[in-house]
Amino acid sequence: MMSASNLVRIVEVGPRDGLQNEPAPIPIAAKVRFIDQLSLAGFPVIEATSFVNPKAVPQLADAVEVMHTIQRTPGVRYLTLVPNERGFERALEADVDAIALFTAATEAFAQANVGTSIDGTFARFAPVLEQARDADMWVRGYVSVAFGCPYAGAVDPDAVASVAERLWEAGCDEVAIADTIGSAEPEQVATVTARVAEVVPMEHLAMHFHDTNGRALANVDAALAGGIRIFDSSAGGLGGCPFAPGAPGNLASEALVAHLEQLGYETGIDRDQLALAVGEIRLALAVARGEGA
Ligand code: MG
Repeated sequence: MMSASNLVRIVEVGPRDGLQNEPAPIPIAAKVRFIDQLSLAGFPVIEATSFVNPKAVPQLADAVEVMHTIQRTPGVRYLTLVPNERGFERALEADVDAIALFTAATEAFAQANVGTSIDGTFARFAPVLEQARDADMWVRGYVSVAFGCPYAGAVDPDAVASVAERLWEAGCDEVAIADTIGSAEPEQVATVTARVAEVVPMEHLAMHFHDTNGRALANVDAALAGGIRIFDSSAGGLGGCPFAPGAPGNLASEALVAHLEQLGYETGIDRDQLALAVGEIRLALAVARGEGA
């Protein structure tokens, strides 16, 4: 029998992080089917959509309808991104029970991405977090650009730990440390993991790696060695790197599952069912883009 430390929880981010930058409109039925198939594949957490301003991200304008149409499987947590109070109103409308909030490890990224300081991001989501806690929602906090910033360059691990600690103290149930530009290296991952684990309990820490430079799995190994047991990935590797057009972005779930199983970890994922989900969403994307006709 495997010990608890051999269990790895994979947070599937494809439906949100993978699809949000797709320019071709994807039919709601294809999104719902993708999420339902990922539920069948056994992911314990699926980041399903985002309540961003529909004018800013038209692809996710159907977020409320998506959440009302998917088959919510008991035991699966359907996570949704909430950028502000207006987004939270829509999340309530969609009956969600888990939300994710975003901040960044650098002032430059916070300013460029959401037009405010790091303090400003906390001020913005403080009322959301309070209402979410009152509504018994599960809350995830993201720290973007934790290993490198497209504007500020190198990122101090202490700055990452400081933001992670603030998220934890503010009441987040889980803190996800994200390599937004895919620049992380294993030694750096070891350092950041150790530093962040001093301020957030290990079992509430997740890592979100991008494969832009082909190091995502090496970084997973470094985080595993440091004690991390929660990783984000995207079915089919959907979702490129917004800062390196054409380059790989999100780590592919099927690659992560295969890698973890090879190392002797349990993921609970049905790889055949995952392959089906990947095949169907790729086909739906090809049709949406008008390819292969
Ligand atoms: Mg990502």
